[in-house]
Amino acid sequence: MAIRSAPKTIAPDSDAGLAPVAALAGVSPSLLAALARLGLERVQDLWFHLPLRYEDRTHVTAIADLRVGERAQVEGVIEAIERGFRYRPQLKVAIGDASRQTLMLRFFHFNRAQAEQLQPGTRVLCYGEVRHGAQGLEMVHPQYQRLSGDDATAVEELLSPIYPTTEGLGQKRLAGVIGKALALLPPAPQLELIPSDLCNEHGLGSLRDALLYVHRPPPDAHLGQLTLGQHPAQQRLAFEELLAQHLSLKRLRAAVRRRQAAVLGGSGSLRERLLDGLPFQLTSAQQRVGAEVARDLAQPQPMLRLVQGDVGSGKTVVAALAALAAVESGYQVALMAPTELLAEQHLHNFRHWLQPLGVEVEWLAGKVTGKARKSALARVAAGAPVVIGTHALMQEGVLFARLGLVIVDEQHRFGVQQRLALRDKGLAGEQVPHQLVLTATPIPRTLAMSAYADLDVSSIDELPPGRTPVQTIAISNARRAEVMNRIHAACGDGRQVYWVCTLIEESEQLRAQAAEVAHAELSAVMTGFRVGLIHGRMKPKEKQAVMDAFKVGELSVLVATTVIEVGVDVPNASLMVIENSERLGLAQLHQLRGRVGRGATASSCVLLYQPPIGQLARERLQVMRETSDGFRIAEKDLQLRGPGEVLGTRQTGQLSFRIADLARDAHLLPAVQQVGAHLLAEHPRQAERLIERWIGGAARYMHA
Ligand code: ADP
Ligand code: MG
Repeated sequence: MAIRSAPKTIAPDSDAGLAPVAALAGVSPSLLAALARLGLERVQDLWFHLPLRYEDRTHVTAIADLRVGERAQVEGVIEAIERGFRYRPQLKVAIGDASRQTLMLRFFHFNRAQAEQLQPGTRVLCYGEVRHGAQGLEMVHPQYQRLSGDDATAVEELLSPIYPTTEGLGQKRLAGVIGKALALLPPAPQLELIPSDLCNEHGLGSLRDALLYVHRPPPDAHLGQLTLGQHPAQQRLAFEELLAQHLSLKRLRAAVRRRQAAVLGGSGSLRERLLDGLPFQLTSAQQRVGAEVARDLAQPQPMLRLVQGDVGSGKTVVAALAALAAVESGYQVALMAPTELLAEQHLHNFRHWLQPLGVEVEWLAGKVTGKARKSALARVAAGAPVVIGTHALMQEGVLFARLGLVIVDEQHRFGVQQRLALRDKGLAGEQVPHQLVLTATPIPRTLAMSAYADLDVSSIDELPPGRTPVQTIAISNARRAEVMNRIHAACGDGRQVYWVCTLIEESEQLRAQAAEVAHAELSAVMTGFRVGLIHGRMKPKEKQAVMDAFKVGELSVLVATTVIEVGVDVPNASLMVIENSERLGLAQLHQLRGRVGRGATASSCVLLYQPPIGQLARERLQVMRETSDGFRIAEKDLQLRGPGEVLGTRQTGQLSFRIADLARDAHLLPAVQQVGAHLLAEHPRQAERLIERWIGGAARYMHA
């Protein structure tokens, strides 16, 4: 037997949190490995590994009192058992209790030993979600334990916390090791990183009490309140988590701002020529934002600016002006877009605008390969002024000679890390490129303050004149024929129509097939008109040819997958039909709808849905009918979906909160900002420790 040294003893003092988990007594190597998979390496990581939710096993519910949809604990005696194999192996266990009702337990995964243990007459205690089954109420895969004949029912005294976990690590074992860590919590004053005067000023209670409360809710804790995340203990922790996240973005920003950047003042000559050549005047919002960007670019510190503006507000021209400021100053510009189609659209616009000025535009997308790629790379390395592409721009082997400005469109689809990776392409000694981020999804103010604390925000809050709001209606698929007639009539009036297929299939191939089916259907109905098809599986050249044909009006109807979501601009298209609209999120619906209403004709959007639809989908369609205000839609989206999904940054680890919820806890943000500013100014070490405590590994990564 291997002789292991006795675990070091740790005292519950202010350093206890920094001790490795391995120093806790009785932590086996397998447990250690599982904890490491969860990113739990130090004792304090366990303190701040917070429950996702709670289960109430403090009492037993009579079967007669069960309600569908609720989770409940039931005690009963097995009355019958049946093994079925009709479609797949299945074990059905009927239990009854003193209320003389029967509940069915159903298992699809079970082994023989399990089946043999569950004999009629056995008493079981089980916990699970109550559902409607074919034979009355049922629980599918409940947790259960057998009770021996005369055991008193062993209900829990406290609500049971349910933690995020990983395969091979059960709740009991995880709760056990967290309990050991909690025994090492130092006295309240030593745990606190927020100075006590600030705690008092903002009514923040003891962190120690808050931690103990959420890990082990006392007997009088209320499940409903905890589930809503409204308990003061939860709010105390949410406050600190938001604070840590805010501080980490501020630190990131400070690190970038300490670097130097090229001064891109430029002569203004190219910009003037671009403006002279445009068929329109900039809106005053575009002028204001353009000036904010120009002022930043002329500074020797890197710009970190987000330009947000609704679909169609004219962000592209603002980006082009920024690009020209860099070119005038002898620097290169990289513009990165999240999809090939959007990047192509930018390529098209930029070439159209810049080539007459003698400024070449390079193209670097994933599909540019072989010789074409090689020569494009050579030109970029030699200093080609403007380079447009997808994330292919960030790949190894892409070297810039003098990158001065990075423009990222549709920020919410890229993570912060991708943005940083592109920035690092321009690293030259201490110099970093300026960053301009464009987003068409207006970001609710609350999010802008927290999720984008590293960026300054400019808003193009005005649409070019002459746009008419898009009239939006929702129609059931049962009335598809009517919609077809409507399209036929619209085309007869010389209007053009988008038909968007939104089937969310797992592959581009299946999406393309769905679009082909719709194309065939429409082609059959639309006698006398030409119907085009565009999807993600087509070559860029083919896509461009179809888009061009639609643009010049050769095609009356364009059947498309959601590849047209962003960037496509055909002012004469004034009717859009979105199939299966109930499956899309608000942001995506809003983006799609933004393709119409770009010309002078009144436009409309038909949201086709396949009944029956759920409550959330119904609400989304309702919002779309009521408003075309991107800010309102974004706020609503945040409410319905949560910030991680709105921003698409879940994977980056940046916005996956342990306990905070930006939509629910937005009211905390003003105080978070105040406390954050104070900490950075007066207690920078405490600020560092807060980031380390809550963000730990992720922050270390961001810092690198
Ligand atoms: P988005 O902000 O959605 O990227 P775009 O930059 O694609 O919007 O602009 C949408 C359309 O509006 C384009 O056809 C563009 O040329 C046009 N546009 C931009 N600014 C103006 C303006 N000030 N007046 C009229 N049209 C404009
Ligand atoms: Mg755009």
